[in-house]
Parts: sequence; structure tokens; C-alpha cells
Amino acid sequence: MRLCRYDNDRLGVVIDDAVLDVTPVLDRLEACRYPLPRHDLLIANLAALRPHIEALARTAPRRPVAEVTLLSPVANPGKLVAAPVNYHRHLQEVLGDANLHHHNRINEIQRAGLFLKATGSLVGAGAGIRLNQPERRTDHEIELAVVIGREAREVPAARALDYVAGYTIGLDITIRGPEERSLRKSPDSYSVLGPWLVTPDEIAAPSGLAFDLQVNGEIRQRSNTSDLIIDVPGLIEFASRFYTLHPGDVIFTGTPEGVNPIQAGDRLRATIEGIGTMEVLVAAQRSAT
Ligand code: MN
Repeated sequence: MRLCRYDNDRLGVVIDDAVLDVTPVLDRLEACRYPLPRHDLLIANLAALRPHIEALARTAPRRPVAEVTLLSPVANPGKLVAAPVNYHRHLQEVLGDANLHHHNRINEIQRAGLFLKATGSLVGAGAGIRLNQPERRTDHEIELAVVIGREAREVPAARALDYVAGYTIGLDITIRGPEERSLRKSPDSYSVLGPWLVTPDEIAAPSGLAFDLQVNGEIRQRSNTSDLIIDVPGLIEFASRFYTLHPGDVIFTGTPEGVNPIQAGDRLRATIEGIGTMEVLVAAQRSAT
């Protein structure tokens, strides 16, 4: 199943080029009061809601997917976990270019570990990227993103895929420079997820997915998740050793070689096999409020 959020917080099932509006299923979610749960309410209840979503989809009003504004498929993730330098060829690329490593210590991920991006940086494809510091080099990073579906704590890799709610395309937008990763990668709109969430029944194994990123029609990054240093089950094992993962938490699995600067006016087109394609526009810095 391909599940999207769009327009004014509507929920849709994507079939071919159409969005089927299944928003009424959200009425089945329990009402939440302060303090809010750490998980995303929809993702936590997705398995239970699925039969109702499928029933609604049979008669749902439909619209062309090209006509809707796509939001992040996860509304309220508790954490955006991210893997630094997790592709073999990207590691070589970074080690060879001072503009990329800025004399920060670049370690293999086994030693460097994971980092967190602010959840406030999350947007969907339709929002686009707003450059935070246009005078500084800001790069695109396409990544397979994994959405956690069940509470996970010290989960061994062999069972890790049982904890996945689905997969989506992630863009980990990054200001290059000497500061901590979490600062350089957390401005508003610097985490893009989309175009939708694809449940694991459609992606049996996340280990051999081809993907690419085009900027203004030119291929900038092209790789396959088979080149990951730590694969998806390994990342879930790694992350869940350090913190409990909750439904809706997202793991950005890392980007391959080919990172390059973006600028206002650019049109990014990201494709991952088995998920789909999303287009994201880059705009100049937003005006101060
Ligand atoms: Mn990244």
C-alpha cells in the first residue's frame, strides 16, 4: 500500500496516478490529550486501520496525484535518526575533498555512530526547500528513509524488518561547514520525506533498491542500497541499542557519492525503485517574520 498525506492534512492511498481520499479513517484514531504520546498516532495504528483504509478506498473520491500538494507521509515523528557516511563510495568521496569534510573527523559509521535531525526540519515534497543560508554551500543528499512501525528496543538485525512500517524517499539537506551535523542539517525544510509511504508488503527487501537524484534534469547521484556500509536491519539494531524507537520514528539511511550544491530555482527529482519519484523545488531564503 502507498499512503500519502496531502493538501489540508488529508490521507490518501496512491494507486497508479491517482490519490484515493481515505481521510475519514482518521476519525477512528483515539483522541489525544496532553501530554501527547511519543509516537505518531497514525503510524502506531496503521496495521489496525489498514482493513478500514482498504474498504474506504474502494469507493473513495479520487484525484490525479499531480494535482495535490504532498505533505510528509509521517506527520509527527518523535525522532529523525540519520546515518553519516554510510555508503562505501561516498566515504571515499568525502575523505578526498576538504570542502566536504572541513577537517571534521570523518569516521566509518561503526565508529561515528548516528546523529539526530530536528523534527522541525521535516516537510513533504510539496513544500519545497527554503535555503537557510544561501551564501553557504548547501548540498542535496538522497537517502532511503525507513519508518518504524512498532516500539523497538535492542532489536537484533535478524528480526529488525518486523519493526518497519514502510519506506519513503528522504532528502537530508546539508549546509557544509565546521559545525555539528545536527545544526547544519536541521534548518526548517532540510528534511524532506515523500512522495508517500510504501508498506513492506510491496518492498520485501530494502537491500537492493536502485535510486537516483536529478537536479534540473541532470543525474547527480545514482546508487543502490546494496552499497550501504550498515544495511537497514543493521541500522535498526544499532539505533535501538541506544534509544527506544517509536512508531513514526524515521531513519535516514545515508547518502551515496555525488553530493553537490543546490541553489534557489533548482528542481530536484528523486527516485527510489519500488517507492516512486518526488519532485522538490528549491527556493530562496524565506523572509524574516
Ligand atoms: Mn545524510
